[in-house]
Amino acid sequence: MKMFKRILFLSLSLTTLGLSGYWQQDVAYQMNVHLDEKDKVITATSALTYINHSPDTLPEIFMHLYPNAFNPGTILDQEARRRGWGSVDPEKAWTGIKIKQVNRSEIATTALNFSIFDDTLLRIILDQPLNPSDTLRFNLDWTFDIHSHFDRSGWEDGQFDMTQWYPKFVVYDKNGWHKDPFGDWGEFYGEFGTFAVTLDVPEDYIIGATGVVTDGDPGWVNVWVDTTLAWEEWNQSNAATYQSYRNNLKEGTRKSVKFLAENVHDFAWVASPDLVYEHGRWQQKDVHVLFNRSEGPKWSRKESHYGERALAWLSTQFGPYPWPQMTIVKSMGGGGMEYPMLIMDGYDSEGLVVHEIGHDWFYGIFGNDELDEAWLDEGFTTFQTRWYQENRYPNREDRMEDERFNEFERQALPWLSRTDQDKNDVLSYIMSPENEPIAIHSQDFIHERSYRQNVYNKASLVLQVLQRYLGEKRFLAGMHLYYKRFALKHPTANDFIKAMEDGTGEDLDWFFDQWLHNTGWVDYALAGYEIQSIGDEKYLTTVRVKRKGEFFMPVPVTVIGPRHEQVTANLDNFRYQTNGTVKIQSAFKPVNVVIDPEDIFFDANRLNNDAKLHVTARYRVYGWANYRPDAYTLEYAPVFGFTDASRAKLGLNIHGTYRGWMREFDTQVWASAGEHPIDARIHIPVKINFRGGTQTGAISASYLEGITQSRLEWTQRWSRTFWREPIHSLNMGLDYIDIAEPNVLLPVNTAYSQFSTKYVMQSGPSSFYLELSFSPEAWGNRSASFSQFETGYAWTKEWDNVTLKSRVTGFAGDGDIPAERMPVTSGASRLEQFNNDASRYLALTSDFSEVAKFQHLSGGGNFRGWFNHPLAVPYMWSTNLQLERQVTRFPLPFDLKAGIFGDFGQYAYRTNSWTTLGDAGVCLLIRHQWKRTNWLTASLMPFKARIDFPVMRYESRVENVKWLSGEWSFSFEYAL
Ligand SMILES: [Zn+2]
Repeated sequence: MKMFKRILFLSLSLTTLGLSGYWQQDVAYQMNVHLDEKDKVITATSALTYINHSPDTLPEIFMHLYPNAFNPGTILDQEARRRGWGSVDPEKAWTGIKIKQVNRSEIATTALNFSIFDDTLLRIILDQPLNPSDTLRFNLDWTFDIHSHFDRSGWEDGQFDMTQWYPKFVVYDKNGWHKDPFGDWGEFYGEFGTFAVTLDVPEDYIIGATGVVTDGDPGWVNVWVDTTLAWEEWNQSNAATYQSYRNNLKEGTRKSVKFLAENVHDFAWVASPDLVYEHGRWQQKDVHVLFNRSEGPKWSRKESHYGERALAWLSTQFGPYPWPQMTIVKSMGGGGMEYPMLIMDGYDSEGLVVHEIGHDWFYGIFGNDELDEAWLDEGFTTFQTRWYQENRYPNREDRMEDERFNEFERQALPWLSRTDQDKNDVLSYIMSPENEPIAIHSQDFIHERSYRQNVYNKASLVLQVLQRYLGEKRFLAGMHLYYKRFALKHPTANDFIKAMEDGTGEDLDWFFDQWLHNTGWVDYALAGYEIQSIGDEKYLTTVRVKRKGEFFMPVPVTVIGPRHEQVTANLDNFRYQTNGTVKIQSAFKPVNVVIDPEDIFFDANRLNNDAKLHVTARYRVYGWANYRPDAYTLEYAPVFGFTDASRAKLGLNIHGTYRGWMREFDTQVWASAGEHPIDARIHIPVKINFRGGTQTGAISASYLEGITQSRLEWTQRWSRTFWREPIHSLNMGLDYIDIAEPNVLLPVNTAYSQFSTKYVMQSGPSSFYLELSFSPEAWGNRSASFSQFETGYAWTKEWDNVTLKSRVTGFAGDGDIPAERMPVTSGASRLEQFNNDASRYLALTSDFSEVAKFQHLSGGGNFRGWFNHPLAVPYMWSTNLQLERQVTRFPLPFDLKAGIFGDFGQYAYRTNSWTTLGDAGVCLLIRHQWKRTNWLTASLMPFKARIDFPVMRYESRVENVKWLSGEWSFSFEYAL
């Protein structure tokens, strides 16, 4: 009777919460675990309880054996290889869990049949099916051969990161069993229950785990950091004391520590003799922090406060933390990972602590299926972390402590708010052909970037849009209803949406349908407005908006008065409409109209939201994006040059961009007192994306040293299977050149046009191209026509330290090919040399003519040993090989590689008479990435240089090999 009442009460409360029909299974693990730290083996028994709350009869039970994934040939290994992530590297013949026996333990012991499939799944066949509301009790005897640290788990340097380490129940919910094998990405889904885990470890081990200690000593007291002392002071004395305690222990002394965790869906633990302990506290909850002594200067006194603040923040915003403690451990892995009551961080960072502790809500409390709907955990915790950071550091004050940036970068360079920076980043993905919807299964994302951009970044911004659209109060009302309904349960995206709708009283399907299941974006543009005086100093503004993006949103429109007065109204008839009108009454005459001035709706192009164009200018800093989203950016930097005719050329480079990739142009203008007072060059790319590919157009033009060139081109890139290699591209271009004033490189006064088409196929380390160009007689004043054909194949192979680069190229020409376009045996053609700033200046300046002789610009046949014997020929084929190796012996301020090269091939002036050429030599390759420490180094591009020492040359006409000594050439680019 009593029981009946309880069930009745339970089902009543579930019904009032809108959860009628919801059920979840109940499990209990009682595990005795012995760690053999020398052989890295766990021997364990699990006494397991499974209560079937489902309406179904279960003939079998499934469990995960995650550690079995880390062996060659597994599904994880195959996927990692297929995606080019390397492979599982075994240090043992086999690692993973071996099941010794499974026994039903209720009355008499009955051995149960079991089998393992898909590497990581255990099927246990029950002797009699488990009926609804029945309880199954059984024992598992198992061992775990621990693998060396991989991703998030394993042993390294005496530390055991024990995550996904035990036979774990597969979730059975309304969709049945979730028998997902452990793949190379995507995470977990766990059944809520109780864990009572006894760990038998060496006496000197310090342990952190899910749950609270109910018996034994986790070893914290001996290494408890005294934070009233300086870290170094405490550490020195404690390390000595602890070492002598360890020395005095009898070999093989062990201890047993018991942890209990209730209402959690996973259990993780970490053990090592090298950890130290710090304690924090928030309300009645303990914050345990464990880290290696070497991390002391970074972790001590900081991480516990990060933990306390995160618990306070998350409990206030999203609902109370239901468990008694939180443990923060320095893991052996690189990033961070969440487990109930325990997070593992690879480095010290407040953002990382807030993110991972946030997972104790979005994964821990809301136990969603991380494989099916990864955005429900990663999206939410990314969203809440940014919210926390912007709340705490509204002007990004925390950048001053961010060790990834130096003093100059923190202080002098432009920064954006986190939201604006994230929006720029996500938009570059959303507006690319790679864009996929947020709500797809983790394994279905095309590549890791797509998975990360969707489930972390895009989802987090969508939640921010929702929060700002609803307002904080209504948003939190929805969140709290979600907590009330689904804390310690298994919510799905639809459960979240329903809670939001019920909590706010607003239908939100239109919002989630677009953002979760489609691949568009938001872009509203101001189409125009009329202001009408309606008497009494009152005005009616009729604003016309145009929807340019695929998504429709009830965007706000604001009219602004002469004294910055504002009145805002929302676009109300917005669903599926392309054009809309908003009427706004104001007590002032508007001077400007802006759509969504606060950028609530994540508008991709904010330049068209405004009647005024906002432009900002800044010094061009190489590789530093942070472009303002509310203005068009002009970047400027000085450029220099020199020639005999002009002496010094001074100029300016101006680069225009919106967000870093939209509406771009690049121009350089030089001025000089000499023969050519103004030189200029401009390049304007245009990009059009569509699903499955991109189209790019570009207009380029230049006037340099009296030579005019222009090019109009169009490129289409596509792939057969959606954005997977091989990637194809087809480029068509129309060039025009007018050599009004001939010079050393372009010696003939002529003007003509040329049409070219080029096909390129790229697939991993290899690429192939075919190029055909022609110029009819009528297209210029040369009174001759010509055509050229070129093809090439390049291939790179990398081993640990050594890289092999290779290239095969072929050329054929017909007609009267202009000298500057004729392929050259040793390297670049004359036109290519002219268009390279460094080699143009060297060639046109007599003071540098000696230096120019030693410059090798790659191209043509690329016979590097023949750099000072260039021959312009219509027919040629060549093979170039280069083997490079990193030089690490000397401490150098730049990156240095040494290599050997060889070139071989043939050329001909007529197809019936071929000459064979060859060469070999050694080379040094230098690369340097400037650290941005002042305005000068901040404006420099990465430096690249090469010095070749040819040692041998061969030519078939003289039939001999010539050994060279003392020859060398240099270049500011690599040959291959
Ligand atoms: Zn995460």
